[in-house]
Amino acid sequence: MPSEPCDALRRQGYQFFSKTTSAALKPCMWCKRALEGGDMCYKHQFYGIESHRCVQLTPTLLCNQRCLFCWRSFEHDRVDTEECSPETILAGIHKLQKRALAGYNAVLENTVTDERWKEALDPRHVAISLSGEPTLYHKLPELIDLFNKTGYTTFLVSNGTNPGMLKRCSPYQIYVSLDAPDRETYHAVCRPLGDYWELVQESLNMLGHGGQRSAVRITLVRGLNDFAPERYAAMLQDSGARFVEVKGYMFLGYSRNRLKRENMPGHEAVRSFAEKLAAASDYRIKDENRLSRVVCLERMR
Ligand code: SF4
Repeated sequence: MPSEPCDALRRQGYQFFSKTTSAALKPCMWCKRALEGGDMCYKHQFYGIESHRCVQLTPTLLCNQRCLFCWRSFEHDRVDTEECSPETILAGIHKLQKRALAGYNAVLENTVTDERWKEALDPRHVAISLSGEPTLYHKLPELIDLFNKTGYTTFLVSNGTNPGMLKRCSPYQIYVSLDAPDRETYHAVCRPLGDYWELVQESLNMLGHGGQRSAVRITLVRGLNDFAPERYAAMLQDSGARFVEVKGYMFLGYSRNRLKRENMPGHEAVRSFAEKLAAASDYRIKDENRLSRVVCLERMR
């Protein structure tokens, strides 16, 4: 995809799987910290995922929402000229992850520990969560099956607008976002290209079927969607999700053009909201990470 937007993304560290699609990977900041022997991301704390062995990728940068809190630039949305095949994505992982991490290694002037470097070149986890909505990629079920067969643990993060596609996917853990207590707030905060509120509800309600590990992610934006915890709780209660992650919005990337620093809730506010969810549902607080302003709840019944 030889275009200006993609050149901008390349400068930000995106590695594209082919010239004609927007399938890409980019190691996250926790991967870099873990490589230096430092802290890992909260997914390690909550679910045991090692950050330096995790590949953050997307099979498409396309998205059907324009969330105010999204860190990506909407100008980078474009119609892919073709979709990358699952085999091309799988085959490119090692090479692209190594290329991206080699950049870090150079910047860090060899502060990376040998053991972690070797482990990082043999990733075990794939987080399909970089940017864009992965269910818009038509071969998502096949891609996840291929990862599963190859021994990767897969996390799939979706905005929930495509329940039909989600039903066909079998990742290790599936995430669906719930970022509003009602339809009106959903339109104001997530700015979907159509009215997908009912589809998001359908996605939430199918979570946990067949024993699949699942989580709902709530990105809390101060002053925009941090009210009516009892309405969120009612939707969570109807869902079959095992976990709920309440995460405070971070003033990062392109979201800084749409929101203000004041829209970031502090950890105490995130924790307090999570407590209200717990009080109104069968979920109980399992763990929290102050640095990432995230609280994890787990369903008790
Ligand atoms: S659904 Fe995800 S990728 Fe799409 S705009 Fe919202 S936060 Fe960004």
